[in-house]
Amino acid sequence: MTWRLWYWGAMSTQIDVMPKCGRGLVLGTLVLLAAAAETSAQAQNKQPDQSGSACAAVAEVREVADGVFVRPGRLAVVFEQAGIANIGFVVGRRCVAVIDTGGSAAEGEALRCAIARITPLPVCYVINTHAHPDHLLGNTALRGPDVTFVGHANLARDLALVGATYLQRAAQAERRALTADDLVTPTRTVRDRVVLDLGARRLELHAYPPAHSTSDLAVLDLASGTLWAGDLVFSEHIPVLAGNLRGWLQALRHLAVLPARQVVAGHGPVSGAWPVAAADTRRYLTVLRDEIKRWLADGGDLWDAQRQLAARERGRWRLSNRYHQRNIAHAFNELEWED
Ligand SMILES: [Zn+2]
Repeated sequence: MTWRLWYWGAMSTQIDVMPKCGRGLVLGTLVLLAAAAETSAQAQNKQPDQSGSACAAVAEVREVADGVFVRPGRLAVVFEQAGIANIGFVVGRRCVAVIDTGGSAAEGEALRCAIARITPLPVCYVINTHAHPDHLLGNTALRGPDVTFVGHANLARDLALVGATYLQRAAQAERRALTADDLVTPTRTVRDRVVLDLGARRLELHAYPPAHSTSDLAVLDLASGTLWAGDLVFSEHIPVLAGNLRGWLQALRHLAVLPARQVVAGHGPVSGAWPVAAADTRRYLTVLRDEIKRWLADGGDLWDAQRQLAARERGRWRLSNRYHQRNIAHAFNELEWED
C-alpha cells in the first residue's frame, strides 16, 4: 500500500509504507509521483477553491487507497484540543462522500478546502459515523443544496438530547457564539443497511444497535475494501464506552466478516489491516465484560473493579487515565442487572 502525504501549497511527497515487491514497485512509484505532481499542479490552479471563497486553512490528508483520503486526528481529549478524530472522504466518478467532519466549523471548512483541491467533483453525501462532537461539528461547513447528510436512525434523537451541551462546550473552546443552526442533523437515515452510489463507486453503510455510542454507523467502500469504522474501532487511544458493551462486541463480530482489507479507526493510526486492527479493541472490551461479570458474581463492588482493572490496563493505551475508570463504571452499570 502506498500513502501519499500532501502538504498544501508547498509540495507533495509520498511514503511507501508497505511497498510491493519487484519491478512493479519502481513503475508504481513513478506513476504515483507523476500523479502527485499532476494533482499538486491542479491544486495550485484551483486557488481560491471552487466555491470562490479563499481557504483560511486546508486539511492535510493522506490517500490510504485509490480515492480514499483521511485527515489524521491527534490523540487528545474532546474540546481540549481540535482535530482529534480521523475524518476524510471518498471520491467517486460522480461525486464525493465525506465521512465525519471534525469537531468544529473550521475543521469542516479545512476538509472542504482539501477536497476542492483534489477533485472538482461536488460533495453529494456527508456521512456521520455517530453523534459525538469531535466527529460532526464540522458538518455546518459542508452544507449545500445538493448535499445529503446521512446518519444512523438514532442520530437526530441523540443530538436532540446532547446537542445543546456540545454547542455550549464548543462555544467555550472556540470563544465564539454558536446557535442551534450550527448543529446539522441527518436528512437521510440508516436503520440497518444502505448503499450509496458515488458514480462507479458504492459505499455500504451499516447501522448498529447501541455499541460505542447509540448511533454507530460503519461505512464500507466496496471499491477499495476500506472500512470506515468510526469509533467502533480504536487504535492506541483507549476505547471509550458510551453505548453498550455487549452491543459493541456484537457489532465487532459483524464488522469482522465484512469484505474489508483495511480499516480507518475513529482514533489512532489512519489505517490498519482488517480485521486484525480490531483485536485490541475487542480484547479490551472482552476483559471489561468478563472481569466485571466475575466481580459481580462474587458480590464485588464497583470500587474494587475500578481499582483492580485500572491497574491491569494501565500502560496499554493512550489516554487511559481519562477514560478507563469511566468505562468501568459504564460497564458495571450495564452488566449489574443482566444475566
Ligand atoms: Zn465517539
